[in-house]
Parts: sequence; structure tokens; C-alpha cells
Amino acid sequence: MARFIFVTGGVVSSIGKGLSSASLASLLISQGYKVRVRKLDPYLNIDPGTMSPFQHGEVFVTDDGAETDLDLGHYERFTNTSSRQSDNITTGKIYSDILKREREGGYLGKTVQVIPHVTDRIKQFIKHDTKKEDFVICEIGGTVGDIESLPFLEAIRQFSNDIEKKNTLFIHLTLVPYIKSSSEIKTKPTQHSVKELRSIGIQPDIIICRCEHSIPVNQRKKIALFCNVDIKNVIETIDVKTIYEAPLSFHKQKLDKQVLNYFKLKPKKQINLKPWKHITASILNKKRNINIGLVGKYVDYKDAYKSVDEALIHGGLENDINVNIVRIESHKLNKKNIKNYLKNINGILIPGGFGLRGTEGKILAIKYARLNKIPFFGICFGMQLAMVEFARNVLKLKKAGSTELNKNCTPIIGLINEWTKKGKIIKGTDVNLGGTMRLGLYNANLKTNSKIKSIYKKTKVSERHRHRYEVNMNFKDKFQKKGMIFSALSPDKTLTEGVELIDHPWFIGVQFHPEFKSRPMSVHPLFNSFINASKINKNEKH
Ligand code: GLN
Repeated sequence: MARFIFVTGGVVSSIGKGLSSASLASLLISQGYKVRVRKLDPYLNIDPGTMSPFQHGEVFVTDDGAETDLDLGHYERFTNTSSRQSDNITTGKIYSDILKREREGGYLGKTVQVIPHVTDRIKQFIKHDTKKEDFVICEIGGTVGDIESLPFLEAIRQFSNDIEKKNTLFIHLTLVPYIKSSSEIKTKPTQHSVKELRSIGIQPDIIICRCEHSIPVNQRKKIALFCNVDIKNVIETIDVKTIYEAPLSFHKQKLDKQVLNYFKLKPKKQINLKPWKHITASILNKKRNINIGLVGKYVDYKDAYKSVDEALIHGGLENDINVNIVRIESHKLNKKNIKNYLKNINGILIPGGFGLRGTEGKILAIKYARLNKIPFFGICFGMQLAMVEFARNVLKLKKAGSTELNKNCTPIIGLINEWTKKGKIIKGTDVNLGGTMRLGLYNANLKTNSKIKSIYKKTKVSERHRHRYEVNMNFKDKFQKKGMIFSALSPDKTLTEGVELIDHPWFIGVQFHPEFKSRPMSVHPLFNSFINASKINKNEKH
């Protein structure tokens, strides 16, 4: 049976629970263990799919089509394995399952209650689909003390009794602030947070302390004493220069050793940290830079395009160059200032997106990239807008657009049934907006002699999707005649998966999201190639 490790957070949010869980997973995997990492989110949305990236950052999509928390992206990048639908649950999903069952008569005669019904359902989720794993690491979203997380904490407390304490480990991550004016490290918030946790019946076994400076031994002793943990299990984590240094730093602090000790286990094989050392060193030691313009709507919020940012960094790793991501807010771009914004940019990437705001700015950036032969990478919405730009300015279809943005446009992009049913508009808003997009892995065939095929070095690929609108195939010939070829198609040839310009050094749009599959240890070929083209662009400019 698997052993379960629960990771909770205290004091404040955003101190790196996801990264700590992912790093621990990677260290255990490297010692020969099979590990799954899961996220339990206390919010009431069924999934984060309908939330703006301003709320919780990027929505990460799994192979099997779940719209999940961005922490699953960290888990995949650190463990080099794909997450599944069953690896993320929210309060909303739990309640929706329970209420459905209640209506079906599944609880006939009973009063449905948080304890035991909600907690039972959480416990089922924790265990579900985990037979082959040695460890299941469950990260509990939010901060101890939040009303929403209570049922989850109660559930993990019960769970630990159900499967015996020796098979479960509680890790609590807290912030240990450093007070500059008195040059002091303060342990009180940690003490309070652990007190809160203990009042629910959970005694942490390991405390990870996030701190700006190393924690002196006296302060560690204090934390150990007041929080009732072994001093060896007070682990510090100091800010790392790149997130990929985190596994190295946790190993140095003996987190993995203490976890294995707790379960009375030994490494199954000797740990190999070389890949992380190599990645960290090459990220930190690069001397040359390129500027990649990320033109989007949510660029101000640093987690909104997390996987795109990471995939660009991975591309830099392969090309031995430091990728400087220049975030450009699309709604600020206009004909007059575009040159100023983009003159020092070596490659332009337009990521996925929704809605009208900022689209004209994105279209201007695409035109600039097309005419000035700057490498351009359009992802999902970025590809759709690249086609709109081409249709307007090259095919001279002045009203070309996407029906997502304007129902009265010439529909280059639309809902598939809009253009198959003789142009009759069927409003997208008539259907539920949650979980109704084309989601998860779909196959695409790559065209012979295309750039995309030469990049992937194969003809069939499978990539993750998250979109509702599609390219209108009725315009295909017009596009191709003028030099924008449909280089990737669905196996039945009805859906466009990728386009590219013939007369351009690197101009590729894809309907899918390659960023979700890029990992530091297996860099996505499209990001690798895009960064390479941007590097060539930079060399040519000088
Ligand atoms: N808004 C577009 C659609 O739904 C693109 C989505 C995206 O970029 N992920 O098709």
C-alpha cells in the first residue's frame, strides 16, 4: 500500500507548497520510488477552468483533459510524469458529486453532513487510483485557519487514523519572517500556525520554514520545542535563484532523508542529482541573452502564463542562452508605439487567451512579426489571431475575425457548427461554459516538407488542447495560395492544428498548448526551435 504525505501551509499563502511537494517527489523518484502528487483545492469552483488567470494563475491542462491548478504543472515538470484527472479535486467537485448522489437517492434516509459525507468523499479521492505508488503526496491548498480548508484537514486527520499514523506523514510549511530593523528571525507566526493545526488534531511531523536567511540553531530549537517536532525535522528553505535549484536545496537540508527515516525506509537506489545540478548551473551561468516578447492580456500577473514562461526557459537551456521574457500588455499597443515596444525583441510569442480586450494590439504585434521577419510563435488564441491578421492584411478580407469576438465578422475562426451549418450563428453562450471546451490530448498529422514536421521529426503528434473555437476550413485554399499553409491537421482533416508561413524564417501557430508538455528534462521541440530561431534573429541584428 502507498504511504501518504500531506503538505499543509501556514502563516501566508504563496510560500511554495507546490514547489516543495514537487521537489520532494522528484527526490523520492530519484531514489527509486514511485510517487504521485495531488492537489486538494478548498475553493467552491468545480475546477479552475472558468476562473480568470488573475485569480489563481494559469489553468493547467492534463493529458486526459482536466482543467487543473497550476501546481500540477510544477509536479509534471519536476517529476517528468503526467498528472491525471484524478490528481486535482476541489470543494466544488466534492459537493457536486455528493449533491448528485443525494438527488439520486444515494443517501436515502440519512442526513447528509460535512462529517462524515464530505470527509468520506475527500478520503476516497485521496486513495483513489493509487495502487502502484510507494508515496502519494497530497498538497492541501490554502492556509491553515481558512474556513474552506477545514473539511480537508479533518479528512486527512481521519485518514491518518484509518490507515495508521505510521503510514502517513504531515509536513507543514510556514513563513519565518526576518525583521530587518532588528536583524531578527521570528518564530512566533510558525508557533501560532502549528497551534492552529494541532487544535484540529494534526501534529506536524516535519516543519519546512521558508525564510530569507538561514535560521540559527537556537531558533530551530525553539521551533522544535514549541511545535513539538524533532529538531532534525525543522527544515529550512531559503529563496533559490531558479526553481530548479529547489530539489538540490531540499536534499541539502535532508528533507528526503527525514521523510524516508520517518517511514523507516532506505533509498532503493542511490540518488542522482546530476540532472538538477546541470539544469541549475546552465540557467545560472549563461552569459548571453535574448529578448522574447510575451504579448498578452494578463502579463502583469506573473503566474498567468506559468507553463509558457517555463517552456521558454527550457528552450533557453537547450540553446545555451538566457531567455529574458519581456511582458507586453497587448491593450497598450497601437500603430504609433508598436515599433518602440518591439524594436529590441528577438522573438514574439502570443499565448492562449479569451475575449476581446487587447486583441487588436496582439494583431498589430503579429503583423509586425510577419513583416519584419521576427520569429513568431502563436499558441491557441495566438494562432487564431495570426490567421485573422493574415486574412485581413494579405487576403484583404477586411472584416475577418473570430466569432468569439464579433458575431458579425467574416468568420475565419468560429464554432465548428457555425460554419458547417451554412454560416448560421449558434451562440456559444447557449451552452455551459465550464468544462465544455476541446480539452486534453488530441492527435495531429504533420504535413510533409513543413517546418513543423522538420521540428518534431515525426508525422504524428499528440498535444493538449483547451479551446472552444476552430479554424474555418472554408478559407483553407485562400490562405494556402498566399503562403500560409495548414501544416498540422486533425487525423480526419476537419480541424486545423497548426499553420505556418512559407516566406518567413519562423512563423508558426498551433491550436494546441505545447507549453504543457515541456519539461526541463525533455524540452518541447517547438520551444527549442523557437528559441533557436530567436537566437539567430539576435545574431543577425548585431
Ligand atoms: N478563446 C479561444 C477559444 O476558445 C482560444 C482559447 C485559448 O487560447 N486557450 O478557442
